[in-house]
Amino acid sequence: MQTAALTFDDGPDGDGHTDAVLDALKAAGVKATFFVNANNYCDVTTAPCKATLARISAEGHPVADHTYDHPHLDTLTNAQIATEFSSVDADVGQAMTVSLSDLTCCAIVHFQT
Ligand SMILES: [Zn+2]
Repeated sequence: MQTAALTFDDGPDGDGHTDAVLDALKAAGVKATFFVNANNYCDVTTAPCKATLARISAEGHPVADHTYDHPHLDTLTNAQIATEFSSVDADVGQAMTVSLSDLTCCAIVHFQT
């Protein structure tokens, strides 16, 4: 038996792309991990974005930290990088109405050369 892991980065968005992905995953009966930003394509403290984030969680997909607003980390200090990862949890956790410990703890670091 072969296994594949699906991941989606940079969401949620406010224009339906994340919802379309969720629709396809639901139709296929599979789960994916969503590496989300707190404020990238939309702000997770706003209603439409919060609803999409809540849907990701409600449908059983793991959610992981992909920085607050998706900066190029190679332009930041170590302290700024730490803040990027620590600050996303508060807004995302609040939007999902889950405790922070329920968030999958992973970080994909975005460096550009
Ligand atoms: Zn990304």
